[in-house]
Amino acid sequence: TKHFPVRRTVGDLVSRRRRTVHAVDDVSLRLRRGSVTALVGESGSGKSTVARLLSQLYPLTEGEIRLGGTPVKAGRGRSFRAYVKQVQLIFQDPFASLNPVHTVRYHLTRSLKIHGKQATEAEACELLERVQLLPPLQYLDKFPHELSGGQRQRVAIARALGADPKVLLADEPVSMLDVSIRLGVLNLLRDLKERLHLAILYITHDIASARYFADTTLVMYAGRIVEGGDSETVTQQPAHPYTQLLIASAPDPDRLADEEAQEETGSGEPPSLISPPGGCRFHPRCPKAMERCRTELPPRFELDDGQWAACWLYEDRPVTTAVPGAPV
Ligand code: SF4
Ligand code: MG
Repeated sequence: TKHFPVRRTVGDLVSRRRRTVHAVDDVSLRLRRGSVTALVGESGSGKSTVARLLSQLYPLTEGEIRLGGTPVKAGRGRSFRAYVKQVQLIFQDPFASLNPVHTVRYHLTRSLKIHGKQATEAEACELLERVQLLPPLQYLDKFPHELSGGQRQRVAIARALGADPKVLLADEPVSMLDVSIRLGVLNLLRDLKERLHLAILYITHDIASARYFADTTLVMYAGRIVEGGDSETVTQQPAHPYTQLLIASAPDPDRLADEEAQEETGSGEPPSLISPPGGCRFHPRCPKAMERCRTELPPRFELDDGQWAACWLYEDRPVTTAVPGAPV
């Protein structure tokens, strides 16, 4: 659009040392158009908070968000309105995000109208075609309860596309759907990423699905990002002991995870974010913890091929300060 010089980098989040609740601490990440970045972690790791900060549902207390390199000022002005339109959030539960008393037509035309587009039947049908609900006329006058979970999530995605977004923030978009249809929805998102050149942040507790679906994977523990790199490397050769634990406790890496219960990973619970452990936050659960891990926070050490890990096991490697996420 006119307001933003669109570079390859479309969203940066920098949030340092929130003093009130340490839901997210010193998190920086970069998303890139045409690329899926997975943010993986247990429930309570702060990953949904990152999505809410990025979508401006929660205010940033420190740090900044940039779109295409331009800082976004919260709450006012053209740049904020443009940001809110271009960065769309997809929720876990499509039933909750659609209004039960309104039809698909209503949801889609309302989205088109809000975003200053022609709210016609033809435009609404085009949105349905984009999410492969075919033929579109068969879905237009249905109510949410007349659709399957997968169809509802597709309608929620279609509604988000009504804004012509550059960025989709998808918070556990398939974890409430039947296992049999998860792949279809992820494949749709991947297809949209390619065709519409979207930047997608895929938030999940399921590292197996990140390997399948995401280009880049970031692993979050207790409000901090502890490992990152391309998805293949991070899932095949996890460097951080926490990532290793996540992968070891994923029941079957070739299948999309089944139960919500898998959010609970073995060997202890994630720590409270109100008073997280000092040093490396993973040290109480880490099988490889050393003395210094209790007191000294590890920086991010650079491994090979763009992989990095915030762990003292790699202290012989150079420290990196590059913003984690999709490579520029
Ligand atoms: Fe384990 Fe220490 Fe590495 Fe933390 S820094 S993951 S405690 S070895
Ligand atoms: Mg969550």
